[in-house]
Amino acid sequence: MYLVIFENFLDKLLVIIIITSMNEFRLTSQRKLILEELMHCTEHPPADMIYEGVRKHLANISLGTVYRNLDIMARHGMIMKIETPDGQKRFDYNTDPHPHFRCEKCGKIEDIPMDLDAPELDPSHPWVKSRKIKASTLYYHGLCEDCAAQEIENN
Ligand SMILES: [Zn+2]
Ligand SMILES: [Zn+2]
Repeated sequence: MYLVIFENFLDKLLVIIIITSMNEFRLTSQRKLILEELMHCTEHPPADMIYEGVRKHLANISLGTVYRNLDIMARHGMIMKIETPDGQKRFDYNTDPHPHFRCEKCGKIEDIPMDLDAPELDPSHPWVKSRKIKASTLYYHGLCEDCAAQEIENN
């Protein structure tokens, strides 16, 4: 009697595992495409730009699905979500802390290819102690290479 129940339970468990892994697989292939898209785009794209790229390979994917997957991957530390000073959400394939440069004219965000240490906060300072500081973002801004060249041309 117990054995029968146990067997049924195992069958059920097996079915659940198969269904789950099928769902996981589908999600994983979507995520793989999203990751690939993000990996090849160095300008820290917003979700809709990634969506445009992914759609070329997966015609019926929705912007909502892309956004949700980006969000999940960012929460799991697979990618990084960055918020620009004007509140736009962008995504970064590079999850190591690194400084960014933002072009004031075209809005492009670039990695700064230099090791720069973020200024350290004194952990014994009452202001720091009363807060939970998770990360810092080092931003520089100005004109990117293209926009700077255009400016020189126009002057
Ligand atoms: Zn620019
Ligand atoms: Zn970056």
